[in-house]
Amino acid sequence: MFLDLTEEQKLIQQTAREFAEAELAPVAADLDRGGDRRIFLANLKKLAELGFMGLNVREEYGGSEAGVIAFSVALTEIGKACASTAVTLSVSNMVCEVIQAVGNEAQRRDYIPKICSGTYLAGAFALTETGAGSDPAGMTTSAVLDGDQWLLNGSKIFITSAPYAGVFIVWAVTDKSALKGKGISCFLVESDAPGLTIGKQEEKMGQHASATNELLFQDCRIPKSALLGKLNDGFRIAVGELAGGRIGIGSLALGIGQAALEAATRYALERKQFDRPIADFQAIQWKLADCATDLEAARLLLMNAAFKKEQERSFSKEASMAKLFASEAANRTCYEALQIFGGYGYTVDFPIERYSRDVRITTIYEGTSEIQRLIIARELLRNLA
Ligand SMILES: Cc1cc2nc3c(=O)[nH]c(=O)nc-3n(C[C@H](O)[C@H](O)[C@H](O)COP(=O)(O)OP(=O)(O)OC[C@H]3O[C@@H](n4cnc5c(N)ncnc54)[C@H](O)[C@@H]3O)c2cc1C
Repeated sequence: MFLDLTEEQKLIQQTAREFAEAELAPVAADLDRGGDRRIFLANLKKLAELGFMGLNVREEYGGSEAGVIAFSVALTEIGKACASTAVTLSVSNMVCEVIQAVGNEAQRRDYIPKICSGTYLAGAFALTETGAGSDPAGMTTSAVLDGDQWLLNGSKIFITSAPYAGVFIVWAVTDKSALKGKGISCFLVESDAPGLTIGKQEEKMGQHASATNELLFQDCRIPKSALLGKLNDGFRIAVGELAGGRIGIGSLALGIGQAALEAATRYALERKQFDRPIADFQAIQWKLADCATDLEAARLLLMNAAFKKEQERSFSKEASMAKLFASEAANRTCYEALQIFGGYGYTVDFPIERYSRDVRITTIYEGTSEIQRLIIARELLRNLA
């Protein structure tokens, strides 16, 4: 069992780190406070040019074919500098992977290269609705075949990258009479499809540079060929293919946690109280040790899930464990790191308050912690039943 990265994985990690330190970290705080989004978008384009949009996508479709472990370590480096960029990258990679996994050859050749090259700044996936979050099978957005076109009606919420995505993977009900979850299909919807409107942008607690919007479909017409995967197989695609996205979210959460721990460690060495650095106090050392141990465990769980996916073995339970643990460990780390900063941690003069806001959503999106536990428990119970 080798736990070391390969030379290629190390190179990707290093490239991601250098880009993150040079281009992302210096602008992250400004973007968080509403700075010019064009800088954020320009960085997405540069990341595409560096090959980060299709890390686990085959070269014939414009991807880097670097694998899942490389994807995970790159996401951690990007997440350390700018969580908004990391989530955009994670979703775009996932969109490419879903198209590669279930799309036909024409769809693969049409869409994946555009995302990988930066022609499209991002890809987006649109599953969640007002009444269907943790229970996406309860969705009501519908798609009806009308001649040689699908007619989409309904709405989605909380869609990452909606205003600048070139293509959306949209889930909609295609058979209302089917049992719950059995009549849902998946579609590729281009951003300029007639009848598609990008709705309200959410004002969020964190990850401000990444846009999160409503999508409205009013008699939105897309070609018959826009069906992605088999008819009425959409829910299975969502459940199966989106597990890989959890490795992305866990990896970016780990990055935020690492950034918080490094900042807190430096601060503990500099800050003096009672005539000595606070790092001398055992209470502070224990916090640092607990956080470092938590993050190391998260990293190993992520590597395990990424390794299994890369080996094309079953990885859904492992991805849920990794996402659950990494997101919660990163939240614990940000909490303790802010405590180490004392009152200064609560001000915008230090990045800890931004990390603490940015990390909070990682236990919620792409399946809440409760839903990850449900997935893990279901698999345990099924195996023993
Ligand atoms: C910033 C942001 C970006 C997002 N990006 C996207 C995106 O790009 N595409 C997309 O489709 N969606 C996206 N989402 C949606 C996100 O995935 C959902 O918010 C999430 O899945 C939870 O759904 P919900 O908000 O409706 O919460 P709910 O499902 O209403 O859950 C509320 C609470 O009840 C708990 N709960 C629900 N069911 C159970 C159960 N069976 N057992 C125990 N507890 C349960 C939940 O864990 C949670 O604590 C995004 C959300 C945000 C905030």
